[in-house]
Amino acid sequence: MSGISFELSETQQQFQQLARDFVRSEVIPAAAHHDETGEFPRAVLEKAWAAGLMNTHVPEEYGGLGLGTLDGCVIAEEMAYGCTGIGTAMEANTLAEMPVIVAGNDDQKRRYLQPMVERLGFAAYAVTEPGAGSDVAAAKTTARRDGDTYVINGTKMWITNAGVADWYFVLAKTDPDAGVKGFSGFIVDRASPGITVGKKEMNMGQRASDTRGLTFEDVVVPAANRLGEEGQGFVIAMKAFDKTRPLVSAAAVGLARRAMDEAVAYARERKTFGRPIAAHQAIAFMIADMAKDIEAARLLVWRAAWEIDQHRRNTRFASYAKAFAADTAMRVATDAVQVLGGYGYSKEYPVEKLMRDAKIFQIYEGTSQIQRLIIGKEIFDR
Ligand SMILES: Cc1cc2nc3c(=O)[nH]c(=O)nc-3n(C[C@H](O)[C@H](O)[C@H](O)COP(=O)(O)OP(=O)(O)OC[C@H]3O[C@@H](n4cnc5c(N)ncnc54)[C@H](O)[C@@H]3O)c2cc1C
Repeated sequence: MSGISFELSETQQQFQQLARDFVRSEVIPAAAHHDETGEFPRAVLEKAWAAGLMNTHVPEEYGGLGLGTLDGCVIAEEMAYGCTGIGTAMEANTLAEMPVIVAGNDDQKRRYLQPMVERLGFAAYAVTEPGAGSDVAAAKTTARRDGDTYVINGTKMWITNAGVADWYFVLAKTDPDAGVKGFSGFIVDRASPGITVGKKEMNMGQRASDTRGLTFEDVVVPAANRLGEEGQGFVIAMKAFDKTRPLVSAAAVGLARRAMDEAVAYARERKTFGRPIAAHQAIAFMIADMAKDIEAARLLVWRAAWEIDQHRRNTRFASYAKAFAADTAMRVATDAVQVLGGYGYSKEYPVEKLMRDAKIFQIYEGTSQIQRLIIGKEIFDR
């Protein structure tokens, strides 16, 4: 009888090593520059793409590696160890591709997924609006049917990769009176007339990542670019989250691991009252808490990923992982700053950036409150 194994497969270990080496040579040296300038890390991503670390979930029929969610989590944790801003720029592609992977037909996959593995390209997942974040159902963007096309009008907000994307996954209302069943999902070419891309937001952290608003004014989209049937858009957008929330959670684990490593290294070196601060129990306990919470977060991430890889509904596990890993990343990064004392507060040391970068994990892809709301619903309503 086979029991539980916490061992990664040989292939997963190879991807882990590939990503780890890449992070050491390409990401860590570039991270501070992109944080400071907000410049999009195109050169780093070009190399990541060439190394096969991007778009890893694109199915093999369309030229991709067809990796599973757990495989992706292993890579995402390593990338985040180097820089979650750069990692988010990579993962935003996966988030945009996922609705196409989940619900696209052969033609759509050939036209939009295949090019992503043939050359470096970007895509964005455009769901949030100025007046609708957690409450996705309050989104107002409309798609009106007109013969063989739809005409899209509305405004999206906080869209990662919006400034660099070749195409967008857009959630819009095709039936304004049908509640969540009135949404449909579309693939919209960036080059379509009527799209205005906003200015880059100057965010607290993950500053390498490109976040912008998008306005659609009478944007004509072929009906052939609708994913699935009319009315399925909301479900498609949420199904994509079941596969991407474990990846985002894995990135939070990677950030936390980096913060802990920085804290441990400093605690060994820094001396107060005649001994390394690691020898003060208050510091050692803070680091012990980091270690156990990182381990627990990773186990939740792997469980959520494993469930979906077995084609089982993982919504509850994905929310456990997202809430716990995000809260862990924030706490560990904050404590790492504490361990470094005054130096932790300075840009000369990486933990200050980690603390700023960590905060967004509690906000994007469903806030920490929304994850708890989902868990509560799973407990009481299912
Ligand atoms: C850097 C960045 C990148 C992003 N990238 C993308 C992207 O690529 N694509 C995309 O579509 N979106 C993206 N987002 C949007 C992100 O998903 C939303 O910001 C998030 O879902 C929260 O929505 P909101 O900002 O409207 O906050 P609100 O929904 O207004 O929430 C405000 C506060 O109220 C809490 N709250 C809301 N409702 C409840 C409730 N029922 N119970 C308890 N508390 C509640 C929230 O947890 C939060 O603390 C990004 C955001 C940022 C900042």
